Amino acid sequence: MATQVKHLIGGEYCDGSGSQQIEITNPADNEVIAVLNCATEQEVDQAVAAAKAAQQQWKEVAVSERARVMLRYQHLLKEHHDELATILSKETGKTFEDAKGDVWRGIEVVEQAANVGSSMMGETVENVARGIDGYSYIQPLGVCVGITPFNFPAMIPLWMYPLAIACGNGFVLKPSEQDPMTPMRLAELFEQAGAPKGLLAVVHGDKRVVDQLLHHPDTQTISFVGSVPVGQYIYKTGTDNMKRVQAFAGAKNHMVVMPDADKQTVINQLVGASVGAAGQRCMAISVAVFVGEAKAWIPEVAAAIAKVRPGVWDDPEAGYGPLINPAAKARVLDLIQSGKDQGATCLVDGSDCTVAGYESGNWVGPTVFADVTTAMRIYNEEIFGPVLCCVDSDSLVDAIELVNANPYGNGTSIFTNSGAAARKYQHEVEVGQVGINISIPVPLPFFSFTGWKNSFYGDLHAYGKQAVRFFTETKTVTARWPESGIVAGQNLTISLK
Ligand code: NAD
Repeated sequence: MATQVKHLIGGEYCDGSGSQQIEITNPADNEVIAVLNCATEQEVDQAVAAAKAAQQQWKEVAVSERARVMLRYQHLLKEHHDELATILSKETGKTFEDAKGDVWRGIEVVEQAANVGSSMMGETVENVARGIDGYSYIQPLGVCVGITPFNFPAMIPLWMYPLAIACGNGFVLKPSEQDPMTPMRLAELFEQAGAPKGLLAVVHGDKRVVDQLLHHPDTQTISFVGSVPVGQYIYKTGTDNMKRVQAFAGAKNHMVVMPDADKQTVINQLVGASVGAAGQRCMAISVAVFVGEAKAWIPEVAAAIAKVRPGVWDDPEAGYGPLINPAAKARVLDLIQSGKDQGATCLVDGSDCTVAGYESGNWVGPTVFADVTTAMRIYNEEIFGPVLCCVDSDSLVDAIELVNANPYGNGTSIFTNSGAAARKYQHEVEVGQVGINISIPVPLPFFSFTGWKNSFYGDLHAYGKQAVRFFTETKTVTARWPESGIVAGQNLTISLK
């Protein structure tokens, strides 16, 4: 019998009483493994009200005590690392080792949240005027909301609520309805770490639940990660409702390969960055730009990628798993067909792929196109599948122009042995996260996750110092304590005297 996915509302686990039921399937065979009932309007209201009430107490808890909850949480997440990765693999199809990486990149953010004391330090200036001091505090906002995608069901929720809550807020998480069991297990462990009841709520559902959170009078911030159309909708609707919004969206990430790079390094790095996780990563490399003579390496890149074999999550030989659902597979196959129809050269064709024993799964084999142009759909659309597009470029200048003309700006990398080329690229490229001889440059949490252009709507990014600013408000105090206790005379001007 399929597992019933619970909601966490007011510190209680409940089934949810919405009439709409969603099935969670194993992407390797499309068998139903769990079901969830969407939250009703009343349940969403209860979740927000409980988080709001708990936050009133929580904001008064000493900052070091809040940090200690995060320390215990980090410890529990590490203790349950394999268990979490197993749940995650079963509902996403990710290979076990990749699922462990998904959890690990989230644990790193919890470690940052455990340092919240120093992150929340304000500023001081003595004698802003004679005998007057200025100083600022950083204070929590209230109830923050997270809406997360299917492709990192551990890491992305962990980008959000640990830091928001460490800053003194309550949090309502609406995870992807396609893989809600990992976030639920994360939430259980959070309570086990000592978080007060109700402070973190998890409500499941689709657009209707999201819309209620976007319009709710008691939610202050919205953090979203997902596709471009939904990201634009969330940003517009959230800001229309006067909320602070950060919306991380789609991507088309380019790797520029210079002819002076080490060929074997390029091949090794490109294999994992393009087809790892079946290409379902917002930082996957989906376009490789071969500059000058480097284009001679394309056949060897294709041969290496062709050797990668998809498989089920617990097959240690599998390079990656299935796509998340049949619609995602159909979309990727349609794009592969469009590449052939529009004249790209298909060097490796993964459109006819099955895995023995799992014939009904959402499999797409590794696929490589050469001679791709910017007029083609495979170049212009986010494929989110194990497909690499190879483009030729005459020079580094042309490569930079190509990357900068792309509407996305999440991640990019350059492979070269020239410091001058790397310096020019990092300086001139209009992309928020740049790797130099690193294919997937996801910043560690002491920095922030800083996508640009159509990959991000908002100003303050995920985790790091920017997220602390996002989840807090600054209060500035100007104070005078005269030794006499008396301030003589009147001041009819705006200046401090
Ligand atoms: P999605 O946009 O379909 O869903 C994301 C969330 O929004 C889910 O919780 C979903 O329930 C909700 N949602 C879906 N449609 C909605 C609607 N019409 N109104 C309100 N809410 C809605 O994204 P996905 O398919 O789960 O994730 C894949 C996408 O996420 C890709 O485009 C990928 O590039 C992007 N992504 C971006 C980043 C980043 O940091 N930039 C990271 C991971 C994934």
